Amino acid sequence: MADVTFLGTGNFLAPPDRYWNSFVLDGSILVEPAPTALPHLRRCGFTVADMDVVVISHFHPDHTFGWPFFLLAAAEDAEARGERRPMCIVGPPGVEEFLADMNELGSIHNVQKYAYEVMDLQFVEVDGSRQQAGNLLFRAVEVEHVPHLRCFGYLFDRDGHILGYSGDTRPCAGLDELAGAADALILECNGPHAHPHDPVTHMDVAAVRALASRHPDLTIVLTHMGEDVDASGIANVMVPEDFAHLVL
Ligand SMILES: [Zn+2]
Repeated sequence: MADVTFLGTGNFLAPPDRYWNSFVLDGSILVEPAPTALPHLRRCGFTVADMDVVVISHFHPDHTFGWPFFLLAAAEDAEARGERRPMCIVGPPGVEEFLADMNELGSIHNVQKYAYEVMDLQFVEVDGSRQQAGNLLFRAVEVEHVPHLRCFGYLFDRDGHILGYSGDTRPCAGLDELAGAADALILECNGPHAHPHDPVTHMDVAAVRALASRHPDLTIVLTHMGEDVDASGIANVMVPEDFAHLVL
């Protein structure tokens, strides 16, 4: 089984009572360094030193803009311990450059340089094969989100138990591949867009219900929730609150 703590379960707009989507897997894997990842790690009893792997699905800011804060905290901790500890960062092709650009834009190139000196940062670009990053075995599956950005879902292999994560996605073949391969799936449910004629870029309740009916044996856990999304009452679908701890 996989142990999951939700640091946030909200979408881009961080609706009332839900911060940005992010979770910790098995106490050592931070999935999505969302803007509030660092304070919410602490709030949930974790330290930056606990995190050996960071996983990113795509480069949108609600999934990544906590990186500079997390990075400095991790670097200071590593220096204080006097160990140049390894940390793996898993993400789409270009992930190292993207995160470096973020630090540059934030005028903290000194933090970037410092972190590279005191830590052994290992960047792992997903390639669709079975891959390993630290103690994490995984396979990434590309999903369809927005046309201008590659987005990946993941199959995390925890001793043969497969936990899936959708990233941000609309209904697509990649999502059904994740659902078919996983024992449990953490699934975005952003809900409908404010402008009904915009292209579909996310899941809504009807799409979740349809996916659940196609995969009746799958446990689905929703995250990346928008305001007024009511997904209660769908068989095998759970709707956690922020800071919930689940064994999946
Ligand atoms: Zn997104």
